[in-house]
Amino acid sequence: MRSKLLVSAATAATLLLAVPAAAATPNPGATPTPGAPGAGDPYYPSYGDGGYRVTHYDLRLKYQPATDQLEGTATLLATATQDLSSFDLDLALNVSEVLVNGHPAKFTVGDVHKLAVTPQQPLARGSRATVVVRYAGVPSTVSTYGFDAWLRTPDGAVIADEPEAAWWWFPSNDHPTDKATFDISVLVPDGTQVISNGVLTSQSSKLGWTRYEWRQNKPEATYLATLAIGKYDISTGTSPSGIPVLNAYSPDLGDNADSARASVERTGELVDWLAGYFGPYPFDSVGGYVPNVPTHYALETQGRVFYSPAQFAHGANPSVVVHELAHQWYGDSVSLQRWSDIWLNEGFATYAQWLWSEHEGEGTAQQLADYVYSSHPAEDAFWSVKPGDPGADNQFDAAVYDRGALAIQVLRTTIGDEAFFKLLKAWPAEHRYGNGTIAQFQALAEQLSGKQLDGVFQTWLYTPSKPVLPAAGVKAQAAPAEPRSWQQIKSAQQH
Ligand SMILES: [Zn+2]
Repeated sequence: MRSKLLVSAATAATLLLAVPAAAATPNPGATPTPGAPGAGDPYYPSYGDGGYRVTHYDLRLKYQPATDQLEGTATLLATATQDLSSFDLDLALNVSEVLVNGHPAKFTVGDVHKLAVTPQQPLARGSRATVVVRYAGVPSTVSTYGFDAWLRTPDGAVIADEPEAAWWWFPSNDHPTDKATFDISVLVPDGTQVISNGVLTSQSSKLGWTRYEWRQNKPEATYLATLAIGKYDISTGTSPSGIPVLNAYSPDLGDNADSARASVERTGELVDWLAGYFGPYPFDSVGGYVPNVPTHYALETQGRVFYSPAQFAHGANPSVVVHELAHQWYGDSVSLQRWSDIWLNEGFATYAQWLWSEHEGEGTAQQLADYVYSSHPAEDAFWSVKPGDPGADNQFDAAVYDRGALAIQVLRTTIGDEAFFKLLKAWPAEHRYGNGTIAQFQALAEQLSGKQLDGVFQTWLYTPSKPVLPAAGVKAQAAPAEPRSWQQIKSAQQH
């Protein structure tokens, strides 16, 4: 520090001119410190980092389907949120080089999925930094917390999982509160295709390799970035309201090929139908893809939904498409603030299926609510899970979906249809491209309805036992019949 004082005024002025804005010196009097190890999530305390935010990811990847070898250069545009001496990225592949503002940075591979980076110069709070990470690996050999989210297919690979997915293929600040735009460019052998989020902006071949460039120009949570590499039949079109649609199907879906298409090809129709409830669709493109994978779940990867072929094993299933598209508003455009707010995602995506069931004449939302309430006796463990704070282990428990949607039906009957349907649109409008908490949702519901709703939220979201009737709107029936839509609604559970 003392040597700085000895620099003459003229030299100091020259030095200041030479320093780019991105390398601003730390704020006077502040001592740069490491970013907090984790974004502060109560369920996943080590995920993300508290010292910076990312506004953009540029991923330039090369993938070899035969060997599952992935190489990448990621360029992150970040802003320090404190005077920052070091920070973590979440990545589980091998790193060969890290640059911060063009200068080599020290890095160490830490615990499981943590890459610790120490830039040569600390980053001043509020300053922008460009972070370049060169990395490589065989993602299917990487296991964290006992599982591997990277799925190999007969002709390539797919990544779509929740909440852990990003660190198998790019370095990130891996928490939904840090949303960013993405450019994803992937080089693959000719004849192989690449599907990702957003819009395909370019495709070009040279010397046996083809590069695909995808752009997601709206903020996206890291777990909602997806990549599918392999052989696909692509279909394109537009929704009735004009949203560009791109769907992709593995040519090897066997007996499920037609039922998958008979579901996913309705994306344009269904996204417009949902816009009638939730307001304008928030992204520039929509669609889904069905790879040849043995899994049973779907995931609301932003603007391009991942579906497992098994979901179409009993015929077309537009209900699962409704569920995943509903997440584009509830989960993607408006992301949860903490993973404990998962009800804002799964409760509403399930409720959208109830609305679809009603629309199709396969059971009204009220009939589905009655069925959920009556089909679980008080001693059923189902009621021990609090949809408003289920715990990390029960984050995707059936109660989050079914009791979650039941809570929404109770809310609807409590505040009335007029306020309820206003609320369904107001929430995505108020928090568009951002985040939200259940408490904020309750406050908005109270504001729009003029009703105090503590009792409803406490009873239906935060009490680990079966609520006692009479509660508004739910009728005690001995054994209501299973609504016709029930099996399809259940098939959308797990994300
Ligand atoms: Zn879901």
